[in-house]
Amino acid sequence: MKLTKIRLYVEHPLGQGQILPLVRAQAHYLFDVMRRRPGDSVLLFNGRDGEWRASVAEADKRGGALEVLEQTAAQIDPPDLWLIFAPLKKARTDFIVEKATEMGAARIIPVQTDFTNAERIRQDRLQAHAIEAAEQCGGTFVPEVADLARLDRLIDAWPSDRRLMFCDETLAGAARGLASADRGKWAILVGPEGGFSEPERARLSTLPLAYPVSLGPRILRADTAAVAALTLWQIALGDWR
Ligand code: SAM
Repeated sequence: MKLTKIRLYVEHPLGQGQILPLVRAQAHYLFDVMRRRPGDSVLLFNGRDGEWRASVAEADKRGGALEVLEQTAAQIDPPDLWLIFAPLKKARTDFIVEKATEMGAARIIPVQTDFTNAERIRQDRLQAHAIEAAEQCGGTFVPEVADLARLDRLIDAWPSDRRLMFCDETLAGAARGLASADRGKWAILVGPEGGFSEPERARLSTLPLAYPVSLGPRILRADTAAVAALTLWQIALGDWR
């Protein structure tokens, strides 16, 4: 019987001959759920050293160990792109983190805006979603999911070398894209279901590196807007070109 491929994110450094001790949860997943046995292969990545093939060296209900054998893919980091978004209900927030990871965001920052629907997030749970998405999509990089930040504070401390693609729903239908924009460090900002408040819009318009853009003639739901904005940016300036 052909075994399904397993890709696991680990924190341990990866290199030929490394022995990785498994914690109980990893051992349970590999040996009880996925039925792996000594000698079976597993693919590993840690976000820094590319992807490696390892084999089960020792299987035990409470632990066990993997031996790292050979590199199967080089490390590929995404462009320096942040996705800043206002968290929505749980499932839609999970969706945005998963899609942003698959689509190549380097950092994911949930923000509280004037009309944000959610007041808190579980950063650890969202980070785990990003790890799962990277395991599943074949990526070797896992974006960091930041803690919930306030949009006004983020704008006050905005780095002078990072451009901001500001998805502004009031521009729906206008011909405003990224045509003349340069590559480099970027962030995408997508608002909540209620959109941006006037004070937020006024504050954003004072940022010298803000590019207000339209995502077409229709108003998209915030989760759709995040995927559309990532697509637009990746095609215009990112690693899909
Ligand atoms: N409540 C707002 C309204 O009625 O105009 C709509 C907000 S929309 C559901 C959520 C976010 O998605 C917006 O804040 C914006 O960042 C983005 N968005 C949706 N459609 C867009 C469009 N056509 N152009 C630019 N941004 C858009």
